[in-house]
Amino acid sequence: MTNTYLNLHKPEAIRLLRELIKAKKFFRQTEADKKVLLAETLIHLNRIYGIETGLSFQRQFFDFSGYGSYSINDRVIHLPRVSLVTFLHEFSHALFNQKNRKNTEPQARSWSLELFKKASPKSYDRAVEKGILLYTLESETDNANVSSENK
Ligand SMILES: [Zn+2]
Repeated sequence: MTNTYLNLHKPEAIRLLRELIKAKKFFRQTEADKKVLLAETLIHLNRIYGIETGLSFQRQFFDFSGYGSYSINDRVIHLPRVSLVTFLHEFSHALFNQKNRKNTEPQARSWSLELFKKASPKSYDRAVEKGILLYTLESETDNANVSSENK
C-alpha cells in the first residue's frame, strides 16, 4: 500500500470516528440508532473530504450477498447490514473514486482498516480477536495482491 492512501487519514476523520466509538458508544447501540449514527458520520466525512456520498440501508434487488457496496453512478453507499467497518470500506471506495484515485480492493481494505485502528486500536483488536472481520490488516500484508472484486 502506498502512503498516498494512508495520508488520506485526516486527523479530523480519526477524531470523528474516535468520538463515534468512544463517546457515542457506537457498538453498544441498537440497529436503528447505529443507522442514525452512520448517517451523521457520513455527513461529516463528506464535509471533511469534500465529496458527496449518499447512504442506503436497503438491499438492492440484484444483491444476494448481503455485503455492502458503493454505487459509482449515483454515489451511494449500500449497506444491507449495519457495520462500521463495511461502512468505512465502502466510504473509501467513494473517496478514491470521487478523488480520481486508483480504486482497488486492497487499497480500500487497508485504508478503512487502518483508519478504524487509528481511531480505536482496542476496538480493532477486539474485532480481530472475535474473528468478525472478513480480512485484517495482518492478512492484507500477507496477501498484498489479493484480487480486486470491487465489493
Ligand atoms: Zn471493496
